[in-house]
Amino acid sequence: MHKGRIIDNANGYDIIECEQCGFVHITPLPTQEDLDKIYKEEYYTTEKPLFIQRQQEDLEWWNIVYDDRYDFFEQNLSQDKRRLLDIGCGPGFFLKRGQERGWKPLGIEPSTQAVAHAKNLGIDVLNCFLDDSEIKDRGAIFDVVHMSEVLEHIPDPAALCNTAYNLLADGGIICVVVPNEYNPFQIILRDKLGFQPYWLAPPHHINYFNYDSIERLLQKSGFRILQRTAMFPMDIFLLMGDNYVGNDKVGRACHAKRKRFDLFLNEPILIDFKKNIYKLMAEHGIGRESVLFGIKK
Ligand SMILES: [Zn+2]
Repeated sequence: MHKGRIIDNANGYDIIECEQCGFVHITPLPTQEDLDKIYKEEYYTTEKPLFIQRQQEDLEWWNIVYDDRYDFFEQNLSQDKRRLLDIGCGPGFFLKRGQERGWKPLGIEPSTQAVAHAKNLGIDVLNCFLDDSEIKDRGAIFDVVHMSEVLEHIPDPAALCNTAYNLLADGGIICVVVPNEYNPFQIILRDKLGFQPYWLAPPHHINYFNYDSIERLLQKSGFRILQRTAMFPMDIFLLMGDNYVGNDKVGRACHAKRKRFDLFLNEPILIDFKKNIYKLMAEHGIGRESVLFGIKK
C-alpha cells in the first residue's frame, strides 16, 4: 500500500514520501496503458521532439560523460567482460560509444523512433519494455547494466532493479543515473527565492530520488554501492540569476556553459580534479543527476 506524507502536488497528482517504497513518488501511479501511450508513441515526438537532434549536437560533450562511465567499468572489470545492456537506451549514443571502445552492446527501448535511430548507428536494440522482452528471464548474461534517466519514469522501480540484478553476472556492475530531486540547491530556491518546485513533472516523472533513496533501492536488490558521483548541478544557474525554468533559450545557453566547463575540465591537467569535485558534490547531495555504480555481490 503506497502511503505517506504529502509533500507537494502537481498536474493533479500528489507527491508523497512513500513509507512502503522508501522514496518520494506520485499517487495515483500511472497504468501500463498510460506508459505504453507515452513511451511507445509520444515521448520522442510530442514530449521531447528535439531530444535526438540535440543529443547529436551535444555529442562531443555526451561522449566525455559516457567515457567517465566506461572508464569506471573498465577499471573494475577484467578485459574479457564487455557484455553491456542499456535499458531505455533511447537513440543509442551511449551504446555506440561503448561499441567504439570494444564493448558488445545491446539496447532495450520502447520508442520506435529512438530504436530506428539506434539501428542506424549499427546498434542492436529490442523495441519493447524490458518486461516484455525475450531476454528478461535469460539469467546472468551481462557484465554491465546501464539505466540512465529510466527509474524516475517507472511505476515499480524496485522490480526493474531486481530484473537488472538477475541479468548481471557475479561481479557485474550496474550504473544508474536519475535526477537528484529536492536537492539542497532546490530547497534554497524554493524556500529563500520563491521558486515553485519546477522539478516536478508527473506523469512522466513518477519517482523523485535523492542519493540516499536511490542507493537504498539498489541495496534492496542486492547491490553493493561502489561509488556515487554527480552530473553538473544545473540548479546553480538559477542561484546565480539565470532563470531557465520554462525558458528554452536561457536553458540552452546555460547548458552550453556547462558543456564548456565540462570540456575544459576534461583536459589532462584537470581531469582528476573534475572527477573529484563531482564525487565531492555527490557527498553533499549536490548534482542535477545522481550517478551511482553498484556491484552484484
Ligand atoms: Zn510507494
